[in-house]
Amino acid sequence: MESISVFDIIKIGIGPSSSHTMGPWKAAAMFLSFLDKKVLDIEKLNVKLFGSLAKTGRGHGTGVAILLGFSGEDYTKIDPLTIGEKVDKIVSEKIIYIQGKHKIDFDSETDLLFLNKETLQYHPNGMRFEVVLKNGETISKEYFSVGGGFVVSDMELTNQVLHQTKYPCHSGQDIIDNCKRLNLEIPELVLLNEQAWRTEKEIRAQVNMIWEEIKGCVFRGTKRKGVLPGGLNVRRRAYDMNKKLLGGKSSANFEDWITAIKNGRQDFNTVNKWISTFAIAVNEENAALGRIVTAPTNGASGVIPAVMMYAYCFLDVFDEDNILDFILIAGEIGTLYKKKATISAAMGGCQAEIGVSSSMAAGALAYVLGGNTKQILQAAEIAMEHHLGMTCDPIGGLVQIPCIERNSMGAIKAITAANIAVEDITDTSKITLDDVIASMWETAQDMNGKYKETSEGGLAKIPVNIPNC
Ligand code: SF4
Repeated sequence: MESISVFDIIKIGIGPSSSHTMGPWKAAAMFLSFLDKKVLDIEKLNVKLFGSLAKTGRGHGTGVAILLGFSGEDYTKIDPLTIGEKVDKIVSEKIIYIQGKHKIDFDSETDLLFLNKETLQYHPNGMRFEVVLKNGETISKEYFSVGGGFVVSDMELTNQVLHQTKYPCHSGQDIIDNCKRLNLEIPELVLLNEQAWRTEKEIRAQVNMIWEEIKGCVFRGTKRKGVLPGGLNVRRRAYDMNKKLLGGKSSANFEDWITAIKNGRQDFNTVNKWISTFAIAVNEENAALGRIVTAPTNGASGVIPAVMMYAYCFLDVFDEDNILDFILIAGEIGTLYKKKATISAAMGGCQAEIGVSSSMAAGALAYVLGGNTKQILQAAEIAMEHHLGMTCDPIGGLVQIPCIERNSMGAIKAITAANIAVEDITDTSKITLDDVIASMWETAQDMNGKYKETSEGGLAKIPVNIPNC
């Protein structure tokens, strides 16, 4: 089994969806890189989207992502505020500059097809890219967005290269065994293993970048008001919630804002409202195609920031020194779900997104609260246990309802799970993290397809009009 870096699970991304926006964006770039010098010979480009990508792709910005991916834009660097204008230009002029330099005709009405009734065999999030070159040669390739921004091609499915860390951890039990054998705490073990990909200095720099992005995203989300894009007319709420909690005052920068929060009321209701505000702020940014930290997906990108901000603002035991440990533990727990179950809503419903992020945050918070290795994994288990069976049924295929509020709920469950786990000193729990991951995967396989990011069941049956792309 392949080892996965925590930075493949927690990474800087762009909204609204890791599987339906970032994955297709990345796939377009992968296809261009595969074509290499032949890019300059492209005369015609055709894109076909299948399964869940076709059914909810319009609401998830899949078309936008693919156009920008073929234009050579990088989703980790693009200014989110320029996206609308860039895509409008391609659609209205019916011209795309491949990699920003090679001009071809491209009509998004006929050259970018959402095939709602067709599904590729390997995964529900399939796409096929086809180019015709100047010499008449046709080159076609299929890609699959398998959740959390991970993408595999049809070629990789048959030629997989497996990466391994020094002390592989493919289960909760592996983590317990390695920690015991090496006399390490979980973050120390993960820090050693991560050095299979990057140096300790680079790991620390990456964590700092993620933390800065989280702080910036939460703060930005409380500053923006108005209606979210997509046609559902969902009003942003973090702005008003933040203003009310601060008694109408506003803060010019992040540091002043944190001071105001810390100096304010700290009763249960107030803290609870802050946690929701943090989560909603992030997911409103995500819904507006903003910059977020994918953890492990975009739809669930508010859970970990909300729990970290809760700890940062309201727990005396938490400060900047804990950020590295938090990210390493949360990311490591996320890798277990990726390896043994799924982090794709198209495969497992919302338990694979909000459930996994809540589990990741619970384990990390348990460590901050003084939990030992078993209590950390127990916290992660408890959080998932109470998300089992949660379906994915976004209204109108937009990552807004129920997604935004669901992040608040995931954060609260994570905090509760961590508190329960660290108070339990009997070590007699009946269910392990490995057990619950197996149950989650079994539930995913049994779940009716209409509840797996197709917008064909549950809340999503409420009819709405969604414009193209
Ligand atoms: S319902 Fe859950 S899994 Fe589905 S798009 Fe929303 S947050 Fe993601």
